[in-house]
Amino acid sequence: MTAKITREDQLPPFANEPFSDFSKPHVRAAMEAALAQVGSELGREYPAYIGGQKVTATQKIRSIDPSCSSRLVGIVQDCPPELGDLAVQAALGAFESWSLVPAPERCEIFFRAKELLRQRRFEFNAWIIYEVGKNWAEADADVAEMVDFFDYYCRSMIRLNQPPELVQVSEEKNRLAYIPLGVGVCISPWNFPCAIMGGMAAAAAVAGNTVVSKPSEDAPVVATKLVELMIEAGVPAGVLNLVTGTGAALGAHLVRHPKVRFVSFTGSREVGCQVVENAAKVSDGQRWLKRVVAEMGGKNAIIVADDADLDSAAQGVTAAAFGYQGQKCSACSRVVVFDSVHDRFVEKLLAATRALTVGPAQDPSTNVGPVISGRAYEKVFHYIQLGKEEGKLLMGGERTESDGFFVPPTIFDEVRPGARIAQEEIFGPVLAVIRARDYDHALEIANGTAFGLTGAVYSSSPDRLERAAREFHVGNLYLNRKCTGAMVGRHPFGGFNMSGTDSKTGGPDYLLQFTQAKTVCAKI
Ligand code: NAD
Repeated sequence: MTAKITREDQLPPFANEPFSDFSKPHVRAAMEAALAQVGSELGREYPAYIGGQKVTATQKIRSIDPSCSSRLVGIVQDCPPELGDLAVQAALGAFESWSLVPAPERCEIFFRAKELLRQRRFEFNAWIIYEVGKNWAEADADVAEMVDFFDYYCRSMIRLNQPPELVQVSEEKNRLAYIPLGVGVCISPWNFPCAIMGGMAAAAAVAGNTVVSKPSEDAPVVATKLVELMIEAGVPAGVLNLVTGTGAALGAHLVRHPKVRFVSFTGSREVGCQVVENAAKVSDGQRWLKRVVAEMGGKNAIIVADDADLDSAAQGVTAAAFGYQGQKCSACSRVVVFDSVHDRFVEKLLAATRALTVGPAQDPSTNVGPVISGRAYEKVFHYIQLGKEEGKLLMGGERTESDGFFVPPTIFDEVRPGARIAQEEIFGPVLAVIRARDYDHALEIANGTAFGLTGAVYSSSPDRLERAAREFHVGNLYLNRKCTGAMVGRHPFGGFNMSGTDSKTGGPDYLLQFTQAKTVCAKI
C-alpha cells in the first residue's frame, strides 16, 4: 500500500486513528492480556542506541511505576555527555546518506512504523500505563496520536517534496526545494511518552535529518520501545540515535554541541528558556545558527459565561482539569466564571469531580491515576499548601498513605487572578476557580498570565465566541468544548508567549521547521 507514493492523492484521505472501545469485551480482554504480558516483562535493562549499536553506560536510571513506586518498570543507561558526543557523531555520519534518500523512500519506512505500532497498540498502551500512570483511555489516545503523527508527517513530506510553483520568465528556469538541516537533538517530556517523543523524532527524520533523541528520565522505557520499533521498520543505523540520561548533564550538553544544527524541545518553561539561551551561544567550530523549536508549559483558562450551558461546561472543565491528573500541557488549571452563575456552576463542577475515581492506572475503572513521581507529588502539595492561603479549598487537597503518588482532584475557589496558584504551572490535578464581573473582565483574566497555550469559552452568544477568537490570545482556542484533546490534522497544536514557539505539531507547516528552502535559478 505504501510503496512508491510520490503524491498525496495516491493515498486515501487522512483520518485519525480511532480510539479503542474498552466497553467491548474482546477489546477489554486484549488490553488485560497486554497488561499481563508487559507485567511479566517489567524490570529489564535496555541499552542506548548509537549508530545502530546497543550501548551501555556505567551509571543507570531506574524507571518506576508511579501507581506503585516499589515496582520497577525498567532500567536504562544514564549516558554521560561523552556518549552524547558519540551519538552526534553517528548522526552526522548518517546524514551524508540519509539526506540523499528520496523522500518517498524515507516515508515508506515511517508508514511501516505506523503499521507496526497499530499492530502493537495494546502492548504500547500497557507500557505507558505502567511507566507514566496514564489510565487506559489516556494511554490509548497517546498511542493513537503517534499512529496519526507517523501518517500525517509522511504525507506532509510527500507534499513538501513537490516543488512549489515559482514565477518563471523566458530566460531562466527557477526552482525551490526543501532540504534537511542536519543533526537535530530531540528533547522530550514524560507526559506523552509515545506521541511527543516519537512525533518529534519522526518529523525530523522523515524530513531527511538525523536525530539524537534524549527522552525524559521519567519515561525512558516507552521511548526505547518506540525507537526499537522504528529501527525494526527500517530506519537505518545512525539516523535515529537514542541516548537516555539526565537533562541537566546530557540534555544541556547536547544542546550546546557545535555540530547540532537544530533542537526540538518540549517541556517546561524553565528548561525551554535555558535551551533557547544555550542554543543561541555560538561555539568554536560552529558553522550555523541553531534553530530551536520549543514547546513549553501552560496556565490554561476556561471561561464560563452567564449564557453558557452549565452542565456541559462543568463536564468539560472537569475533564480538562483532571484528565491525566492535570498533567497535560493543555490542561485547564483556571476556570473563570461569571459572578452571576458562579454558585450554580461550582455546584455542578463539584458533582462532576466527585464522580471521578482515583486509583492505580492498571485498574480499568480508574479516572485519575498517580502523578508522575515523588518529586511531582511534593511539588503539587507545595502548591496545595499555598492554595490554602490564597483561596478557599472546596475539595481534595489531602495526602493519602500509599505506595503510589496519588493526589485527589483538588479545587480552590475565590482565587485572585494574580495569585501564584493562578499564575504558575502546577502540573497536577489542581484547579483554581476565579470570579469575573463580565466578559471584558473574564478575557482580561484569561489573558493575564505569561503563557498562551490553550483556552476555551463556554457561551451561547455567537458575538462573544467571535470576540474570543480575536482576543483570547492562545495558540489553541476551543469554543463550547474542553481545552484538551487536540487531534492531529484537525487541531494543529502549539502555544504563544511563554508557552513556546507555536510550532503547531500535527499541522500542515510543522515539517517546514526541520527543513531549509534552497532556490536554484538556471540561466537559459
Ligand atoms: P522538563 O522541562 O522538566 O523536561 C523536559 C525534557 O528536558 C526532559 O527530557 C529533561 O531531561 C530535559 N532537560 C531538563 N533540563 C535540561 C537542560 N538544562 N537542558 C536540556 N534538556 C533538559 O519537563 P517535563 O517535566 O518532562 O514535562 C512537563 C512539562 O512539559 C510541562 O511544563 C508541560 O506543560 C510541558 N509540555 C508542553 C507541551 C507542549 O506541547 N507545549 C507538551 C507536553 C508537555
